[in-house]
Amino acid sequence: MKGNCKEYSKRSILLVSIGYVNLTMIQILRDGLKNVFKKPVEIGKGLSEPDYAYNKKRKQYHSTTILNALLEDKEYTAYEKVLGIVDHDLYVPELNFVFGEASRGVAIISITRLRQEFYGLAPDQALLQRRVLTEAVHELGHTYGLGHCKNPHCVMFFSNSLIDTDRKGPEFCLKCESKIF
Ligand SMILES: [Zn+2]
Ligand SMILES: [Zn+2]
Repeated sequence: MKGNCKEYSKRSILLVSIGYVNLTMIQILRDGLKNVFKKPVEIGKGLSEPDYAYNKKRKQYHSTTILNALLEDKEYTAYEKVLGIVDHDLYVPELNFVFGEASRGVAIISITRLRQEFYGLAPDQALLQRRVLTEAVHELGHTYGLGHCKNPHCVMFFSNSLIDTDRKGPEFCLKCESKIF
């Protein structure tokens, strides 16, 4: 084998599905992230359904509990960043819901609220895929040390709702871009 695998991995972003997530969606996300971050993006072995994080009262999954499961999984420590993708509605105690969460080198996003169907609208695959990429870049941006940006067209702008997500899209403003590249 040529080169040093470990070094290669340490430069890579690893995508991990947590429970069932459509594989085509993950593959399209991988290609989108490669474009944005200009580094290898790999698809890892998925994790089982996160039943341990389910809150019966809220009928949602506790985001931080899933994030910790990712942080503790030794299989992923060889990678520079790990992004978990889950198709369940996520929350943290202070908020009604979250699109995603990041901590240290690990992030997680939920695709549930990115679907038009969630709001009783007709499905739109292209829009969904753009939203998935936008939320993924945003959370990964946090793992690279970026905070929220005041520019409403920058991916690091805080999304209160999908109106924000759709306005900003998956690109960094020049100021944010200069901090990670
Ligand atoms: Zn954020
Ligand atoms: Zn910015």
